[in-house]
Amino acid sequence: MKNCYGYTELLKDLLELKEVYCQKVSVTFASNSVRGRGIPLIKIGSGDKKLLAVASVHGREFVSSCFVMRCLKDFLDRSYELEGKALYVLPMLNPDGVEIAQGKEKPLNIPHDFKPELFKNNSNNINLNANFPFCFHRVPKERQGGIKAASEPEAKALIRLCEKERFMSAISLHARGNCIFWRDLGNGRVKGDYELAKRLEESCGFELIEPTQKAQDYSGGFENWFRFRYRKPALCVELVEDEEISFSDMCFNFEEAVNWSKTGDLLKIFADFC
Ligand SMILES: [Zn+2]
Repeated sequence: MKNCYGYTELLKDLLELKEVYCQKVSVTFASNSVRGRGIPLIKIGSGDKKLLAVASVHGREFVSSCFVMRCLKDFLDRSYELEGKALYVLPMLNPDGVEIAQGKEKPLNIPHDFKPELFKNNSNNINLNANFPFCFHRVPKERQGGIKAASEPEAKALIRLCEKERFMSAISLHARGNCIFWRDLGNGRVKGDYELAKRLEESCGFELIEPTQKAQDYSGGFENWFRFRYRKPALCVELVEDEEISFSDMCFNFEEAVNWSKTGDLLKIFADFC
């Protein structure tokens, strides 16, 4: 398999980040994955208004980690100011899933129809974006959210971080569709949700998806849980418009796949708007 953006590449990038921008950035680990990989957490800025961006919730969508790291480097290179704000980034929530999707290891719990390149879950074969404690009893079995909400260490780590930092807003980066899921019927309107989504539509060209109607689709999701728990905007941003491109090719054709010339300022726009 071609060498994609995986956990090793991320760790290398983090070292560089610490070396080059040591005054401006802090890098720690939020917790560990099922297989014991540290889940990196980057923080820039020190203001009271805290914002969160999460990537690679799904293993095969590792292009989102590559994307968020590039956004961050640009942000730091151009010395953008985060007046009164702090930006927290979890660039790879599901490192085991990323390694599995890149064919570097096997899940602990191997599904019967296992195809590495399509693998999105964690090593226990649980879909993290269906494992959060929001309408969890409505998560259908085929979404693979597990038998108990927040059973997975990666989901627990993200919940703990949110409980500690009380973010004003969150963005979760995925990879398929060039669109934004910004509201669900279970939560209804959350103040500022449409305005943020609209701003990102205008600047980055993402299509806004109608509010998610069915509990089977919005239950257990991170962004849905975040809206429920804090009544603050949380968006699921799906990068990559091309429906045909493979998940690994997204990394090789990176700028074209993610439409970088339009989307590359996403973190800055997010930080400015909130
Ligand atoms: Zn996804």
